[in-house]
Amino acid sequence: MKITLKSLGNIADKTMEELKDRVSGIFHCPTEIKAGFNDLAQAYNPQRKQYFSSKLLAFLKKSERDERVVGIADVDLYVPRLNFVFGEADVGSGTAIVSLCRLRQEYYGLAPEEALFLERATKEIVHELGHTFGLGHCSNIKCVMHFSNSLADTDLKETKFCSKCHPKIIL
Ligand SMILES: [Zn+2]
Ligand SMILES: [Zn+2]
Repeated sequence: MKITLKSLGNIADKTMEELKDRVSGIFHCPTEIKAGFNDLAQAYNPQRKQYFSSKLLAFLKKSERDERVVGIADVDLYVPRLNFVFGEADVGSGTAIVSLCRLRQEYYGLAPEEALFLERATKEIVHELGHTFGLGHCSNIKCVMHFSNSLADTDLKETKFCSKCHPKIIL
């Protein structure tokens, strides 16, 4: 099994490297960074001033059977019926997308906190990867598979899978 993180649009190399190290430390499998695509405009919804998550997700392709691909975007994502999403996974294709946009303190008018930002991004990436590894949502609020309705939920959970979820991961 191998995990590929793809930058969608302009994501700082340093951020991608940090996230790669953290994700590979959790799944203990080879993790690579690749350039994704830059043209996010086709998923932009001018009424909502957001990007349609599922549309971007559909453009992500994996090249190998045993690969999981996570697109990292820095734009605000939505799906119909929800105000926004932190990320989305397509279990069938083994692909996922995560937005960094709402994970920064600056988004809420607060001073930047790089460590907190990276921690949140790691949780969201591990969560979406968890879906691609066959996991559903978990009722344990500390578990990384707990659904984040808000950033407070993300901050409450850990980057790890709980003892119930962990054995269910199919690598
Ligand atoms: Zn989820
Ligand atoms: Zn769990």
